[in-house]
Amino acid sequence: MDINVVDRFIEAKSALFSSLADEIWQFAETGYQERNSVRKHIDQLKAAGFNVQEGVAGIPTAFIAEAGSGGPVIGILGEYDALSGLSQKSMSLRCEPSAEIANGNGHGCGHHLLGTSAHLAALAVKSFLEERELQGTVRFYGCPAEEGGWGKAFMARAGLFNDLSAALTWHPWMVNTIWNMETLAVKQVYFRFSGISAHAGDSPHLGRSALDALELLNIGINFLREHMLPSARIHYAITNAGGIAPNVVQANAEGLYMIRAPKNQDVESIYARVCDIARGAALMSGCGLEIKIHSGCSNLVLNNVLNQVMHDNLSRFGAPSYDEEERGFAESMHRTTRPEEIEMAGRTLQGAWKDPKPLFDGIDALDVKRPGQLHGSTDVGDVSWITPTAQCFIACYAFGTSPHSWQWVAQGKSSIAHKGMLLAAKTIAASALELFVNPGLLDQARQELDQRLRGHAYVCPIPDEVSPPIPEQVVET
Ligand SMILES: [Zn+2]
Repeated sequence: MDINVVDRFIEAKSALFSSLADEIWQFAETGYQERNSVRKHIDQLKAAGFNVQEGVAGIPTAFIAEAGSGGPVIGILGEYDALSGLSQKSMSLRCEPSAEIANGNGHGCGHHLLGTSAHLAALAVKSFLEERELQGTVRFYGCPAEEGGWGKAFMARAGLFNDLSAALTWHPWMVNTIWNMETLAVKQVYFRFSGISAHAGDSPHLGRSALDALELLNIGINFLREHMLPSARIHYAITNAGGIAPNVVQANAEGLYMIRAPKNQDVESIYARVCDIARGAALMSGCGLEIKIHSGCSNLVLNNVLNQVMHDNLSRFGAPSYDEEERGFAESMHRTTRPEEIEMAGRTLQGAWKDPKPLFDGIDALDVKRPGQLHGSTDVGDVSWITPTAQCFIACYAFGTSPHSWQWVAQGKSSIAHKGMLLAAKTIAASALELFVNPGLLDQARQELDQRLRGHAYVCPIPDEVSPPIPEQVVET
């Protein structure tokens, strides 16, 4: 693959796509409400000659844009959702909400860059498939609500990734490396208890407390924690404590629980035990119980074959060069971080980075034999169960600044972020083209996936009857 051709194609689109990313940064639309961001992507994709299917999987802000014909079919995954409450002035070195963003949200996870870069990579691949008259299809997936809405899991449940030969994506980060870290599968579920209200002083014997049931559930889960996989996690929020009056026996109470574990099947077995505890809590307190699944996503299945392809291409391009002004800005941002944040930032690196600088300007080593473990989750996991999947992290932010922080929002329109976005597009495009030219790699990647799944077929963690949690009030910005 001629790296220079990819490099030139993408550099020539730099201004157009930097301004697209900036516009989406400005929209700052949260999960399932990304209507303006999606409109921008779709208009540009259609103008470039992609066939676009809008509103896929019953989600207004999910779409597929396709070009080419026949196999192999390479999917490139893009996102565009922001985080609520993270409005922040661009390039500011202190936490201050932006006057430009009316809805109070902010792009604190860089998904404005993620989706724009994936779009640009798909455009480059389309152009080369046509120019070289190669057989195959490139498909750009517009994936909504990664942040807790798990859009890709709903898209996977609808079968939208089933005919892919491979999927590629990336995430904006503080270093340039391959995502060689497993993530946890998660199931989000409501436990709702119903009791009988009564005067808590005069006639407590007539009441049945739903709040007692919820407390008993939590006590039971505390005992369970010692006897589950050490890397599993159960967190909860009390979403209804039954009111604020202590003198009324609480007739209703509800908690939202997140059950995380290394593999989908581990989550299912822990979930079954939590359900038993909830039934026990209902019996003990004399209350009724309703269990309602909210959503969930699968663990990430790594693929060494594709990770190596991506790493080789990333290394060929190398890190961007930065000028004095960019280095100075990164240094100032770096000074706003705490030592423990800098230590956390190093955990995605495989090679030793002896002297952390404010701006990562190298390419990390890849050791496929030493995968790491993140204790969070990503809905790319669902795609990775269905088709071989790889992703890279690309430096867009000063080292040590944390995702989901004001610092990430502040840096989202910087030239450093734009350069990272272009490097990601080049890496994804060159990797996809290598797979088109050398389909034997796709066979190897598929064999590896089959071996890793050991006969476990993909079962979406979200049952068919659960709808995507799309807010009723769609806020127009
Ligand atoms: Zn993210």
